[in-house]
Amino acid sequence: MRIFDPHIHMTSRTTDDYERMAEAGVRAVVEPAFWLGQPRTNPGSFADYFDSLVGWEPFRAAQFGIRHHATIALNPKEANDPRCRPVLDLIPRYLDKDSVVAVGEIGYDAMTPEEDEAFAVQLALAVEYELPALVHTPHRDKAQGVKRTLDVVRESGIPPGRVLVDHLNEVTVGDVRDTGCWMGFSIYPDTKMSPPRMVEILRSHGLDRMLVNSAADWGRSDPLLTRRTGEAMLAAGFSDDDVDRVLWRNPVAFYSLSGRLDLSDTGDTGPLFEGSSILRGGS
Ligand SMILES: [Zn+2]
Repeated sequence: MRIFDPHIHMTSRTTDDYERMAEAGVRAVVEPAFWLGQPRTNPGSFADYFDSLVGWEPFRAAQFGIRHHATIALNPKEANDPRCRPVLDLIPRYLDKDSVVAVGEIGYDAMTPEEDEAFAVQLALAVEYELPALVHTPHRDKAQGVKRTLDVVRESGIPPGRVLVDHLNEVTVGDVRDTGCWMGFSIYPDTKMSPPRMVEILRSHGLDRMLVNSAADWGRSDPLLTRRTGEAMLAAGFSDDDVDRVLWRNPVAFYSLSGRLDLSDTGDTGPLFEGSSILRGGS
């Protein structure tokens, strides 16, 4: 089983995690910029963090044979802090870097006017830099948050096929599916989505534009839940090819929209492999 984790915060994980992930079949990851748990007090602290996402962390991952790319953004939570907002001026510099494959995580946390503005500004940056966008949806008031997210995406003019709306569940998947955006699901040990619930969603909504991630961060999380979801799919009667599509080809197809995804070390022959209905426009 080859696995591409499209959303994982490796900065909060140990080398033991990298080792276990490599053993489980994880060959590539995307690490979105996010909130570090403790408030940052000035833009310089973001610059150091972004530098580690495009420098140190890819180096650390490579030691375990894992390809590492990043997404860069001012996250929604810190968009509310006036001390952090000047970060928006730093972001273009990072969007030029080769290993940056999307603008993200952007979107809503508490759905404030400040978040509205940062979200719109960064969607415009995604259009300008011809990058896809990774959109976080709020964990509280999720149904309403997703509806408002989809409105803002529509107004921004970015093509829905270049947007991944993440942290979805049974309640929100349908709305996103209808828009043509990609759908992300974060699988957690004991809250939110679990492998069996994910399998049910794949059964009822199909495999097109579906991405599964572990979102592993500082909270209780497990970087092997992508693998566990693949195993749960097989146990439920999905084929090896179905698992490969969800855990590898779909994330590869999405981040390939950046034109920058480099998987040369992972055994993948490139984004335009046979059998990917996604890239042909999909059934
Ligand atoms: Zn995240």
